[in-house]
Amino acid sequence: MGDLVREVDVAVVGGGPGGYTAAFRCAELGLETVVVDAAGRLGGACLWEGCIPSKALLHVAAVLGLAAEAREFGVDFGEPQVALDTLRKWKAERVVGRLARGLASLARARGVEVVAGRAVFEDARTLRVEGDDLRRLRFRHAVVATGAAPVPLAELVPEAAALAGSERVLDAAAALELPEIPERLLVVGVDYIGVELAEIYAALGSRVTLAMTADALLPGVDRDLLQPLVRHCERRFEGLRVGVELERLREVGGAVEARFGGTTAEFDRVVVAAGRRPASAGLGLEATRARVDAAGAVVVDARCRTDDPHVYAVGDVTGEPMLAHRAMRQGVVAAEALAGRPLAFDNVAIPAVVFTDPEVAWCGLGEEEAGRRGRPVRVATVAWAASGRAATRGRADGLTKLVADPESGRLLGVGIVGPGAAELIGEAALALEAALTAEDLAATIHAHPTLAESLMEAAARLAR
Ligand SMILES: Cc1cc2nc3c(=O)[nH]c(=O)nc-3n(C[C@H](O)[C@H](O)[C@H](O)COP(=O)(O)OP(=O)(O)OC[C@H]3O[C@@H](n4cnc5c(N)ncnc54)[C@H](O)[C@@H]3O)c2cc1C
Repeated sequence: MGDLVREVDVAVVGGGPGGYTAAFRCAELGLETVVVDAAGRLGGACLWEGCIPSKALLHVAAVLGLAAEAREFGVDFGEPQVALDTLRKWKAERVVGRLARGLASLARARGVEVVAGRAVFEDARTLRVEGDDLRRLRFRHAVVATGAAPVPLAELVPEAAALAGSERVLDAAAALELPEIPERLLVVGVDYIGVELAEIYAALGSRVTLAMTADALLPGVDRDLLQPLVRHCERRFEGLRVGVELERLREVGGAVEARFGGTTAEFDRVVVAAGRRPASAGLGLEATRARVDAAGAVVVDARCRTDDPHVYAVGDVTGEPMLAHRAMRQGVVAAEALAGRPLAFDNVAIPAVVFTDPEVAWCGLGEEEAGRRGRPVRVATVAWAASGRAATRGRADGLTKLVADPESGRLLGVGIVGPGAAELIGEAALALEAALTAEDLAATIHAHPTLAESLMEAAARLAR
């Protein structure tokens, strides 16, 4: 190890959404900032193997779905042909590549340097950077933004060691590379990532069986929101099994034999999306005063401070909810906090979206969660069957649900299922964050005909 030491105001470890947002804000606040990233680039899991590639492929799935629906109103494009090479190239260059170039130029414009290497804390003011010319960084503050790593297959399936290196068993990142469109695909999932991957491959032509190890298709999501998605999955997939255990997975000849929930079947490929856990191991955090909890999440307060006054942490490494937009907000909070400004992560609504068809989106308190907590609430549900916009789009299978405080009428939670829910939830998050009442939302004129009117209508029911 050489003696080259660089002094900076802020060293950000990890260049994902949490890390680059923190770094950009630090630089805007006049702090000399360096990002150390093991992959040597900005974007993290979100850009390279998560949100962006999956949403690009889900867009393709939606286009294929729309083309099929168009037959109903007399437009027939014929059988779609998917050119996999073109699709891969479009995803890699026009989507991921373009955004990556954008991030790199934003970093240059702000004077944020990106250093390739794996960073390890030597003490609470020094990082050792392994794998690059720059050997050590002395910092006034560090922001840990190392994200999360996939739970290894071995933790979900016994005997998984025998499958190490098998081309037929893929994790989420490998599946998003689209190595091929297998005829028979098993997707084993624990959360929305499995459902989204199943949706992509089913649209591209695989006969998909989705086996969820959780006891609901989307654990913790309101049942009213789930029903339209469950119906869609039952139609779309060859098999849908929820609450099953993956008992065995082994290669047999040119296939993978899987045993789950008492069923044995053969598949050409298996995608295992076994969840993600905070990537805090091997970082040398024990050389600082920062603490990790039993799940490996770095413990932070509302200002993203760890127990070490020099070390902040943001994003997936701080635990659930592991979402890019939460990581980005934490990034801003950490930058402002370490610069001595009074910002805190005091948001009341962190929206969550599953980009399937129909999309499912929610934020704040759900009706079932309110019941579990014994919190009295008023609820209004508007089915999209009466929505003019839903009818014009040929899709009336959506639903908008509001949860409000019975005394004050203050909105506490919103759930939406239907095509376009991902965009609609933005208004809901704003309403919750601004502490609006059902009356406020009901009195806001919404353009007609739009799906957003369903929010106004549900609010009007609550306000009556
Ligand atoms: C398939 C999939 C789909 C997803 N879809 C969505 C979605 O639609 N919406 C959403 O909000 N979220 C989604 N997510 C989750 C989202 O990707 C994460 O919440 C987000 O990337 C977290 O950002 P982060 O900055 O905390 O960490 P990451 O994006 O994981 O970035 C961490 C970075 O740290 C680097 N690193 C790790 N250790 C070190 C080290 N010791 N030294 C230097 N660098 C290091 C890594 O190279 C990486 O670049 C998805 C995830 C997956 C896997």
